[in-house]
Amino acid sequence: MLTIAIDGPSGAGKSTLAKTIAKKLGILYLDTGAMYRGVGYYVLQKGADPGKESEVLPLLDGIKMDIVYDEGSQKVIICGEDVTPYIREHNISMAASTVSKIPAVRLKMVELQRSVAARTSCVLDGRDIGSYVLPHANYKFFLTADPAERARRRHEELTARGVSISYKEVLDDMTARDYQDSHRDFAPLNAAEDAIVIDTTGLLPEQTAELVLSKIYR
Ligand code: C5P
Repeated sequence: MLTIAIDGPSGAGKSTLAKTIAKKLGILYLDTGAMYRGVGYYVLQKGADPGKESEVLPLLDGIKMDIVYDEGSQKVIICGEDVTPYIREHNISMAASTVSKIPAVRLKMVELQRSVAARTSCVLDGRDIGSYVLPHANYKFFLTADPAERARRRHEELTARGVSISYKEVLDDMTARDYQDSHRDFAPLNAAEDAIVIDTTGLLPEQTAELVLSKIYR
């Protein structure tokens, strides 16, 4: 069994890297951000405020989340509904970050993440995988990159999907989200002490993947 943790702020290149190395190694990729996005989406759908624990907690038991794979791509199912098409919307990013501050939400997601990692070899990307979810992961990587470059990547990704948003708005939202993720009390965005830190500024995705694979095959 092999577990690989990839953490870092938004736009550092985690998901591209995780997908590439999972494919290369023939193991599962678990996108844990998608799980928090699923919760954020559900809470908004129910008309609740993601920032109010008193409104989120009563909904929590009702969230029956399943992670399934369809031709290799991950789908988040909540109460039988595939919510995957909606969770990448721009407004869901902040809702996910806000709802993920609530310890009970995190504990529920972490339980699911650990149960997947206990069953099969996998690469998980997120914010707290190496520092909290899987402290004994075989490999831990923490990706960073210059904020301007991270915002540019995220802006490109959103505009390629047809989302109309300015670079400045992406940069401001990303900065606010990273601040919130780094400053929450419970399992904040953090590099584990034994993580290999990689600055991806100026690196192509394939160069980052090559670097990471060289550490794994070392
Ligand atoms: O990775 P992604 O941008 O999809 O994550 C959305 C949000 O989910 C993050 O901003 C963060 O607040 C939360 N998250 C988290 N812990 C993880 C993965 C994501 O708190 N392991």
